[in-house]
Amino acid sequence: MMNQKNVSGIGNMYMHDILFKARLHPQKKISNMDGDQIKLLYASITDILNLSRQKGGFAYEGDFFGQKGGYTRDYFLVGYKENQPCPVCGEAIELIKTGSTSSFICPACQKL
Ligand SMILES: [Zn+2]
Repeated sequence: MMNQKNVSGIGNMYMHDILFKARLHPQKKISNMDGDQIKLLYASITDILNLSRQKGGFAYEGDFFGQKGGYTRDYFLVGYKENQPCPVCGEAIELIKTGSTSSFICPACQKL
């Protein structure tokens, strides 16, 4: 899932929250998802990218953290919130290794 070939053009920083919203584990393969999970995934992508665009964050992805008043960390659900409580269940958010990159997940909401 974190493979840019599968979901091209979506920055890694958005993927954490997209997968969280869809309640999908980052190491789950698209080929193993059922129809409902795929629908949920696409709905999550749309939600997060719309929010980002509203905040003016998407166009500035390259220097995202230097942007003021855009799509800041405050809008993240689980991304970059290691050890903070999950907004849904309160479980501590974990940073896990997913291949060459890392992912922030709620271990209770996002089961492999
Ligand atoms: Zn949770």
